[in-house]
Amino acid sequence: MIEIGRYSFGIGDRFALQGKAQLQAMLKAAQKGVEVTPVWNKSHREHTIIGTKPADVRAEADSAVKALGFKKAYFVDADHISLKNVDLFMDSSDFFTLDVADYIGKAAPEEDIESFVGKFGKYVGQIEIPGIDEPVSVTEDDIRTIAKKVLPAVKEAGKIYRHIEKVKGRGNFVTEVSMDETEQPQTPVEMLFILAAIAAEGIPARTIAPKFTGRFNKGVDYVGDVAQFEKEFNQDLAIIAFAIEEFGLPGNLKLSVHSGSDKFSIYKPINKALKKFDAGLHLKTAGTTWLEEIIGLAASGGKGLELAKEVYAKALDKIDELCEPYKTVIDIDRKKLPSIETVRNWGPDDYANALRHDQSCKAYNPHLRQLLHVGYKIAAKMGNIYLDALRENEKIIAEHVTKNIYDRHIKPLFID
Ligand SMILES: [Zn+2]
Repeated sequence: MIEIGRYSFGIGDRFALQGKAQLQAMLKAAQKGVEVTPVWNKSHREHTIIGTKPADVRAEADSAVKALGFKKAYFVDADHISLKNVDLFMDSSDFFTLDVADYIGKAAPEEDIESFVGKFGKYVGQIEIPGIDEPVSVTEDDIRTIAKKVLPAVKEAGKIYRHIEKVKGRGNFVTEVSMDETEQPQTPVEMLFILAAIAAEGIPARTIAPKFTGRFNKGVDYVGDVAQFEKEFNQDLAIIAFAIEEFGLPGNLKLSVHSGSDKFSIYKPINKALKKFDAGLHLKTAGTTWLEEIIGLAASGGKGLELAKEVYAKALDKIDELCEPYKTVIDIDRKKLPSIETVRNWGPDDYANALRHDQSCKAYNPHLRQLLHVGYKIAAKMGNIYLDALRENEKIIAEHVTKNIYDRHIKPLFID
């Protein structure tokens, strides 16, 4: 049985060259006495855009772990997979993020709904949930509505789970159920009965990714009502603790936050809530390591800077195509993007300061940052020209990658 630690961090890595630099951040956390399990994640969408294979991520993770003599558990996440593509990830992954968001809202068969209502009807009334001030009120209608909405998704998750279990064997992998890519955030009552349905379906989920309130745009800070987020996050933790007891879900079931990189304004509330509930967390990031590569190239000056400018020029040229797959998770004001001519005249600091996520820096440009975030396809197309530049500037890039993950993410989330 492999178990994921209390705190885990999804690191991704578009071009699979920063595994060691990423792992260094976990070693820095370990020096502070905090264990953070690294999880290399890459979605089918990313593989398709870059032209990599799941086996590449496994090779990267194994070699980083070996090179640094890392002795703790680590995982390779088949991120956002469905029955259609799970087989591609079977050999290389031991963490599976079952994405069933597309099935939410597909009406469930009447007999499934009624049997669910029969099974969980005992929760109708006022439920006292430790950690939530007001009792949570549940009507039979609530249960019926939620069942109708979520049962097809949870049944689909069950199908994918059993398919993986048949190949890999029970207990040999971590299962995440993700519903983050839906329109509406789940309410506490919905969360409770989603967990009930997951338990009834027999899925031993270790992490669950709900949709939180507010916007989780790629590579930039949280946009939304922080106080409302904090309230919902605390409620979710309370519901999970309750559901573990009530429905017999795995004791280490925890929340998973997707698109979690750079959401600096909610890290403090998250840190506080985790301590209050003595809870674990998985936080997924992926894209910002690639941005640190570009910052490192720009900061190195010379050829690296020229290449970083080339990436921007091409990204601006192909903006429609690059933004299309990510249109619901970016907010780019095109009028605020610098022209190619402006960027051509930039020095190393101009470029690095515009891109680096430092909100106190006047030169920081979140529009440019989001465009480059989704612009990795440009670098992928450059092939060895880009990869060789990364290798040539390995040291400066590695410093940026480690610092970004440790100082800006792990430290405020789990250590401060
Ligand atoms: Zn996600």
